Amino acid sequence: MLNFSFTEEQEYFRKMLSDFSKDELLPNYTKWDKEGITPKHLWRKLGDLGVNGLRIPVEYGGSGADCVTTGIAAEEIGRGDFNLTYAVMLNSLIGEIINNHASEELKQKWLPEIASGDKILGIAITEPAAGTDAAGIKATAVKNNDAYVLNGEKSGISVATAADAFIVFAKTDPEKGNRGISAFIVPAELAGVECKGYEDMGNVPIGRGSVYLNDVEVPEEYLIGLENKGFSQVMNGFDLSRLLIGLQCLGAAFQSIDETIEHVKTRHSFGKPLATYQAVSFPIVTHHTQLEMIKWQAYRGLWLRDRELKHTKESASVKWLGPKCSQEAIHECLLLNGHYAYTKEMPLEQRLRDVIGLEIGDGTAQANQMVIAKDIIGKEFRSYESASPSK
Ligand SMILES: Cc1cc2nc3c(=O)[nH]c(=O)nc-3n(C[C@H](O)[C@H](O)[C@H](O)COP(=O)(O)OP(=O)(O)OC[C@H]3O[C@@H](n4cnc5c(N)ncnc54)[C@H](O)[C@@H]3O)c2cc1C
Repeated sequence: MLNFSFTEEQEYFRKMLSDFSKDELLPNYTKWDKEGITPKHLWRKLGDLGVNGLRIPVEYGGSGADCVTTGIAAEEIGRGDFNLTYAVMLNSLIGEIINNHASEELKQKWLPEIASGDKILGIAITEPAAGTDAAGIKATAVKNNDAYVLNGEKSGISVATAADAFIVFAKTDPEKGNRGISAFIVPAELAGVECKGYEDMGNVPIGRGSVYLNDVEVPEEYLIGLENKGFSQVMNGFDLSRLLIGLQCLGAAFQSIDETIEHVKTRHSFGKPLATYQAVSFPIVTHHTQLEMIKWQAYRGLWLRDRELKHTKESASVKWLGPKCSQEAIHECLLLNGHYAYTKEMPLEQRLRDVIGLEIGDGTAQANQMVIAKDIIGKEFRSYESASPSK
């Protein structure tokens, strides 16, 4: 049976979030960028709406929703405030990692506060010399009695300036490549942790930056799962975050298209509405068509994940094309709105800057194409060493 419909409950959730996004997020979307602040009160508000804990079980304060429902949240919040979609994506990725791999004690300590929005967690993998080649990280975690001592720099980290803690990936066995990486929960308040923000082109309210680890003593209980298993734990999580990122970007692009359709229906040139000229309507149609196709691939990927079926290449395809086609659509919308859309009075220029960030974050187009090539052509034709079995 092939069924493309959402459940009644999912439609209700979509409507609730759509209203919230339009009424409460969209009017302030550009405010946080202009003021350069992370609106923590809205992360809490998303906690009240059950959005932060979608992938956290009910017994740990979450809503225990499925992945398709989580995708609906990513898309709808993306329409109102692209930067708040990080709350959907990061909390789903981190919630799953903690819930699936961490000890009972860590779950009880962190999951309820992530779900409520009282605590913000970031995920710290990238380093100055290792991005796409994530297995090449250099940060180390050395066991010393009942603690691990962490050293290194994590760069490009979302919520670096806002987070209460980070899931940090570091080498516990540097000789073993990706099979020597472990994951730890590192509270930002620990001695030796220093966070510095960047001046980014977009995603400003996310407070991206570097996290410096200087002889940080992390209690051994903060190790997530087993030693040296950190890489495989997070790689599975990327299959979810990449689908969500696609929908976040599509939400921002669909909103831009809706706004642009209103504009071209009412704005006249040469005595007629702009919408009557096919040079105006066809680009809108082209972008809308592309976005619709990617949207359904994204929900298909989430549906496969809900059924524990393979979805790695679907996820990579959505991460590759979703941000790219969304960025192109928003760019076109900006042009169709004329000079005024080039000002900061309208949200389009910010949406463009924001969405471009996620053409890089969580894996570039090439990184995702490498994942698909490995699947459809074969791992024996990889251009890189087999250091990372799951990538
Ligand atoms: C908005 C944003 C948010 C982010 N958030 C986080 C976060 O929360 N946590 C985190 O750990 N990181 C985060 N990052 C970092 C991000 O994951 C990395 O930037 C990304 O993986 C690319 O790594 P890099 O920047 O080092 O580029 P590089 O790996 O140096 O790549 C540079 C270019 O070369 C290409 N390239 C590299 N290798 C190959 C190859 N073998 N074949 C073809 N092309 C190749 C890449 O596609 C890219 O175009 C974020 C980045 C951004 C922009």
